[in-house]
Amino acid sequence: MSELRPSRRDLLAGTLAGAAVSVLATRSFSALAADPAPPAPVPVAPAGPLILLPLPYADTALAPVISQNTLSFHYGKHHKAYVDNGNKALAGSTLFARQSIPEILRATQGKPELAAVYNNVAQAWNHQFYWQSMRPGGGGAPSGRMGDKIKSDLGGYDAFKAIFSKAATGRFGSGWAWLVSNKGKLEVMDTPNADNPLTLGLTPLVVIDVWEHAYYLDFQNRRADYVTAWLEKLVNWEFADANLG
Ligand code: MN
Repeated sequence: MSELRPSRRDLLAGTLAGAAVSVLATRSFSALAADPAPPAPVPVAPAGPLILLPLPYADTALAPVISQNTLSFHYGKHHKAYVDNGNKALAGSTLFARQSIPEILRATQGKPELAAVYNNVAQAWNHQFYWQSMRPGGGGAPSGRMGDKIKSDLGGYDAFKAIFSKAATGRFGSGWAWLVSNKGKLEVMDTPNADNPLTLGLTPLVVIDVWEHAYYLDFQNRRADYVTAWLEKLVNWEFADANLG
């Protein structure tokens, strides 16, 4: 048994950590789901297949929209807990050893006995994607290809802002609002709890976390103000453009 454990862990690390690293490389995850090629070599997580990657900026970098207090708790407590609990839920299971994150989510969604795997793997992925969807000095109307696509597919930046803000503020309870590519066409959607567009075969471009833990210390109940500030100051259009492929 002891010889088998590292190889199982290596396989899991190869698939799951490969998916996480490919976010950094700005590969789309829907491409991963369709691509049976073995993942590129990746660092093996010390404590399991999901990896808590470092934030792509200092925890003070998004202030004053997102304070250091919010960011340090959100990343260091919430995101870390999803990674740790996801690794616990996956520990010892060979069921998902060769599956990508989209495949794991599709295999576990809606199955109560696999809810711990689904929720924690999805939330670990969603948070990594959220950190990358923001940058210091971001926000405002995009130029270049994203600007053109927003004009042709969504009716322009003002129309996009209205649609995205409605999705983000209208999502009842906890969840996420996404800009996605549906076979190359931009769409806005929101999802509840841990759900994300990967299970629908869509390509996420950027996401905003609208769980209360994302904004309550800075905005209390004013979710609409958080969404407006996020769009004006933080959204990372270069990341969106790269995810468009
Ligand atoms: Mn969150």
